[in-house]
Amino acid sequence: MRFRIAIGGIHIESSTFTPYLSGDADFTIRRGAELLAFYPFLEQFDDKVEFVPLVNARALLGGVVGRQFYDTWHKEFFELLQGAIEQAPIDGILFDIHGAMSVEGSVDAEGELAEALRAFIGERPFIATTMDLHGNVSDKLFANSDLLTCYRTAPHIDVQETKLRALTNLVSCLEDKRPIVRAKVDIPILLSGEMTSTEVQPGRGLYRLIDDICQHAGVFDASIWMGFPWADQARCHAAVVVCGTDQPVVEQQAKQLAEKFWTLRDQFAFVGPTADSETAISEALQSTVKPFFISDTGDNPGAGGAGDMNLLLKAFVTQKIAKKVLFASLFDGETIQLLYRHQVGDALTIQLGGKVDRSFGGPLTVDITIERFFADEVAGKCALVSCANIYIIVTENRFQYGSKRAFQQAGVNSFADFDIIVVKMGYLEPDLSAAAKGWVMALTPGAVNQDIVNVTYQHLKQPLYPFDNNFDANLAVNCRIRTK
Ligand SMILES: [Zn+2]
Repeated sequence: MRFRIAIGGIHIESSTFTPYLSGDADFTIRRGAELLAFYPFLEQFDDKVEFVPLVNARALLGGVVGRQFYDTWHKEFFELLQGAIEQAPIDGILFDIHGAMSVEGSVDAEGELAEALRAFIGERPFIATTMDLHGNVSDKLFANSDLLTCYRTAPHIDVQETKLRALTNLVSCLEDKRPIVRAKVDIPILLSGEMTSTEVQPGRGLYRLIDDICQHAGVFDASIWMGFPWADQARCHAAVVVCGTDQPVVEQQAKQLAEKFWTLRDQFAFVGPTADSETAISEALQSTVKPFFISDTGDNPGAGGAGDMNLLLKAFVTQKIAKKVLFASLFDGETIQLLYRHQVGDALTIQLGGKVDRSFGGPLTVDITIERFFADEVAGKCALVSCANIYIIVTENRFQYGSKRAFQQAGVNSFADFDIIVVKMGYLEPDLSAAAKGWVMALTPGAVNQDIVNVTYQHLKQPLYPFDNNFDANLAVNCRIRTK
């Protein structure tokens, strides 16, 4: 007899510091065969498992999920689950979530969802939760998941590997008759995403410990969550979870991993050069090499920023600049509609950017000339406009200029045509990094302000490093055992 495993979930990283609400336009919904095809490794389990697709919603990083969209997804998810259970009992669920979703009116969206899921299916079916390491593991989520795992790399290059591990562990737990133990330790650390790459120390060494831990008899998985810094919620902080069959070993390994993480806390640092906005601009203006890149890190759409913040642009256009500057890019659908009613060469005054989040000064009034119209699959209708020797790419949708190809579509064939290029990201993507002769990460305000010590939070659990220093961490082990 094959096990019946349902698959479904909802995956988004929501900044609560942007008024942007994520909804229909942001999510890709997969159902049925399309959902199953999203997990290309399922056929390995053909002889053991019958998979039951529910619904999976997956979005780009964004804002809080709108209640209407979420409720519609939620209703469909549970209706499909009900339908599946009516056909035949299910043995488990591969619960595919991010862990940093926020939903209007909720401060622990995934925890509440897992709790609802457990209440719906009862105690018997296993819930195997697969996550992003930037997610959070609230007590509610932990209590209602039998197994939890997350990526072991940032940037994330082990997305499929992680889901496969979650499923493999789920299947072996269904086959294994021993009790399954899971232990969580909350770690009072919350770090900015640009500090926690696993390609450099200390993140690299920390995540490598996982392999050793999994060598212990009685342990089959260990995971480290960095937590999500751009939501003001008590669940946002680091955590480790170890899963296995031998309670003392599982607890001890979880405790040791947490202690190791705690001792490394001071060593996490920005891996690239950083500066406040003003200093970043003056470094770029004084640079003797070109192109000099500035990362507008607080408005990085790749981390959840709105992509329409114009603070750096304002700072450039309000001074006379001899250098040739490119802004790639500004998201402003309204301006695109206006520009597309004109022609290349037309000069006009526009209200640019600052529309998603008006708390940073609102749109910038600027006189521009239209240089070029073009389109991009994701960015939508785009325009290149100029204001003296400052060039700005305006896009219809939120977008990140991270590849040479994207710049070429905008008519920029050589990065070296510009002295300064301002991009909305943190670390430079490989094509940009290869071209950059100088670079600084500007710690700009915005939805994903990297300078988190200066962000105003009200609900984070305290004490919490780096907001507080000089305290003894409570690294208590929260252990749960599931017997068959
Ligand atoms: Zn992530």
